[in-house]
Amino acid sequence: MAKYTGPVCRLCRREGGKLFLKGQRCFTDKCAVEKRNFAPGEHGRSFFRRRKVLGYGQQLREKQKVKRSYGILERQFHGYFKKAARKKGVTGELLLQLLERRLDNVVFRLGIGSSRAQARQLVRHGHVDVNGRRVTIPSFLVDKGDEISVRQKSRKNALILGSLEDVGGRGIPEWLSLDKDNFTGQVLELPKREDIKIPVEESLIVELYSK
Ligand code: SF4
Repeated sequence: MAKYTGPVCRLCRREGGKLFLKGQRCFTDKCAVEKRNFAPGEHGRSFFRRRKVLGYGQQLREKQKVKRSYGILERQFHGYFKKAARKKGVTGELLLQLLERRLDNVVFRLGIGSSRAQARQLVRHGHVDVNGRRVTIPSFLVDKGDEISVRQKSRKNALILGSLEDVGGRGIPEWLSLDKDNFTGQVLELPKREDIKIPVEESLIVELYSK
């Protein structure tokens, strides 16, 4: 699958806010948004000052923000949208819920990986079990009651240990629980909108795709 391989901090600066793509660094003053809070490129300093993005532009930016936060490309993102639209309920919220339920995101939220990119790699490399069975698909959707654990052989992995050490600073969302000593987390309930702390107006994404 194609993936973005450019500088990720540039994506945050382009969206005008932190997308938390680089693990622990995002919580320090080394964060590029803290140091240079203007859009990248030659005219970056004047970009946000010059014009307020409205209409289609605003809808597009909201979509990009979510896609980039979860590290998903257009085709897959559109697939999530279609799936959310087929369900009963508020499409924008259902879209975010689907994204939040991805295994790579849950591994990140539990602090087993320090960023979604790292969490995705841990899943792909077979370090994670769901309900006692190895799952290597980052887009696997977790459900209420699922148990996510680090495989026995991977419990000495320096990346995982380092990330779990830092998890206290970030906190675990209320819909998940973590038993750090046993390298195990559980899905207590499916995430509600208020549990998903991404500053995005998801209704604009729905408007964009409904055209
Ligand atoms: Fe974004 Fe993290 Fe880079 Fe800051 S350090 S700009 S939050 S990826």
